[in-house]
Amino acid sequence: MIIGALEMGGTKMVCAVGDENGNIYDKITVPTTNPKETFKEVIGYFTGKGICALGIGSFGPIDTNKGSKTYGYITSTPKEGWTDCNVVGTFMEALNVPIGFDTDVNAALLGEVYYGGAIGLQNVAYYTIGTGIGAGIMCGGRLLCGVSHTEAGHVLVRRYPGDTYAGKCPFHKDCFEGMASGPAIHERWGAPADELSDRNEVWETEAFYIAQCLVNLILIASPQRIILGGGVMHQMQLFPLIRQQVKEMMTGYVKYKESDDIDTFIVPSQLNDEQGIKGALRLALDAL
Ligand code: ADP
Ligand code: ZN
Repeated sequence: MIIGALEMGGTKMVCAVGDENGNIYDKITVPTTNPKETFKEVIGYFTGKGICALGIGSFGPIDTNKGSKTYGYITSTPKEGWTDCNVVGTFMEALNVPIGFDTDVNAALLGEVYYGGAIGLQNVAYYTIGTGIGAGIMCGGRLLCGVSHTEAGHVLVRRYPGDTYAGKCPFHKDCFEGMASGPAIHERWGAPADELSDRNEVWETEAFYIAQCLVNLILIASPQRIILGGGVMHQMQLFPLIRQQVKEMMTGYVKYKESDDIDTFIVPSQLNDEQGIKGALRLALDAL
């Protein structure tokens, strides 16, 4: 079975073909400019490849409500030119195959659940900490979704003592994403996050924000595992700091078997940044 997978990001689109076992046979990257230009290239890639379905994990916010008139659209994104963009309709018309559509983080979560570090688990969360922050949350085997998808990157956070940084979120300033995304780290400390590896205070601060959001998630959803991905999480020194802070903030209040073994409870992705594209294969299969 040949399946199409598309990861729509704010800076680039990853297009791939693979199979139901999570194998990726071919992959290209297309820069994200405006919808017309970008979609033309993406459609060109998939045309003639014989795909039987296409799965799309997209940046958001998006409309995933199948009963809605704007199902399959990117909705109120601050990304210029992409507001009210009909993603599913465009690909359906051009490729005429079933289309699966969900958030980039839900796709990444599915990648982990089917092919990565959460195989067989029913209660899992996946966070990406990159240009933006978002989470996919699975409870009892189902992706958490209410009227709309989760926006767990924009939850409100307590400030790290002494942190006077205003915050970078265009909507809330000092929400989780506003305080802890890659661009927030860059602006607060005056250098790109990947150049700050040896600055302990950077990662202590970062771990504080991430840990409190994980604690909130644990209190709400009691996951069996939390997987952290995205560019910022390439800083592996964050993991012990986050685990330590989570333990301190929990003060032993909620304890269960999986969370007790904190080293296997809060873990990096093992899919080498392919969790999103592999999860998009799953979205396509679900659409089939
Ligand atoms: P995106 O979120 O745009 O899809 P990424 O997940 O790679 O892509 O996130 C990009 C952000 O992560 C940038 O702000 C960048 O500074 C930061 N980043 C990328 N690589 C690293 C790294 N090795 N260490 C720390 N931060 C990084
Ligand atoms: Zn926000």
